[in-house]
Amino acid sequence: MPRAALLLLSAAALGACRSSLPTPTVASLSPTGLVRAPAKVRVRLASTDGARELGVRGARGGPVTFERVGDLVRRDDGRLAREFRLAPAESGGVLTLDDTPYPGELWVNARPGGGLRVENRVDFEEYVAGVVAGELSLWSAEPAELEAQAVAARTYAVGSLFGRGPGAFLWDDVRHQVYAGRFLSDGSAGGRAAARRLERAAQRTRGLALFSGDTLLDARYHAACGGSTARTADVFSAAAGPGSPAVECAPCSSSDQARWEWTAPAADLARLASEWDLGERLESLVPERVDARGRWLTVRLVGTLRTRTVEVANLRQRLGSQQLASAGALRTWPPPGRPITGGLHFAGRGRGHGVGLCQEGARGYARLGWDSERILSHYYPGATLESCER
Ligand SMILES: [Zn+2]
Repeated sequence: MPRAALLLLSAAALGACRSSLPTPTVASLSPTGLVRAPAKVRVRLASTDGARELGVRGARGGPVTFERVGDLVRRDDGRLAREFRLAPAESGGVLTLDDTPYPGELWVNARPGGGLRVENRVDFEEYVAGVVAGELSLWSAEPAELEAQAVAARTYAVGSLFGRGPGAFLWDDVRHQVYAGRFLSDGSAGGRAAARRLERAAQRTRGLALFSGDTLLDARYHAACGGSTARTADVFSAAAGPGSPAVECAPCSSSDQARWEWTAPAADLARLASEWDLGERLESLVPERVDARGRWLTVRLVGTLRTRTVEVANLRQRLGSQQLASAGALRTWPPPGRPITGGLHFAGRGRGHGVGLCQEGARGYARLGWDSERILSHYYPGATLESCER
């Protein structure tokens, strides 16, 4: 993929047929030349957030452990401080925490709410590669799929950090983007090939991000759309910048992979009714706003006391976004509007919010021979690719 070039990506021209993420804070008018990726990024590690003690391998001087003592952090050599900085023993090496290798530095802090907090301060492009490694299965991914994911992840990260000042950080989980540290080959032929594919995808897309006109795109992505994606504005009402429209996704519509079913237990529905002040029980649920392709956007919840309309994204967050896996092609039993006497059974298609690049679909299109530009132009029609490298 050419770098620093203005590439017009148009689905029509090419004859082409993506933990809800928080809204990036990018200003709605950000002239292209001013939107720049940071040199380094702070990544907060969710799995160790609040831990009482932890150990890191690979640092200068050998393995080291930390524990929280009062308002401070104590290192195993007895030193006390609010914060410790660790660098790898070798230049370009990694630090290992909970069996995950991290490039760059680890900063261990006293977490305000108790326990410890760790941030990985890492070069921006290393971070992008670590997101691709966290989001996709490198062992089986196609090069075009990796490249498209790298561009989407980079765009989302730049947008999320833009204008937030030097203390801005990203979580390493679905609150922002799943980040897996540095992918290290296990030495097998497959592992070496996977590492080479990741390195190549990162190099080929280095610095490239998606724009709409002069403005950074609000580039979302998700696991599987179930057959068609959702319009950004329909799902993220407070989207920071221009988003993407709903598009068909042939690989998903012909796959059973994205089908799921789940029964919300009566106790979960009662908790929901109580949290939303609807009364002691949820009596019925009715889709209210549905998009052109049948994706539920808002639902009316009828409780024993009150009725309330909520966004499906909010409902998914409350009931569990792994369980209520998407809002695509939803059906319920009892059917909408009928009295709920116990649990509520959901069946649907897709995983995730359904906006932007669909990872399942990108894989399918890559296997059909589409390159990454064509994949990106399909899910983000009209977007341009430009360098945001410093
Ligand atoms: Zn799809």
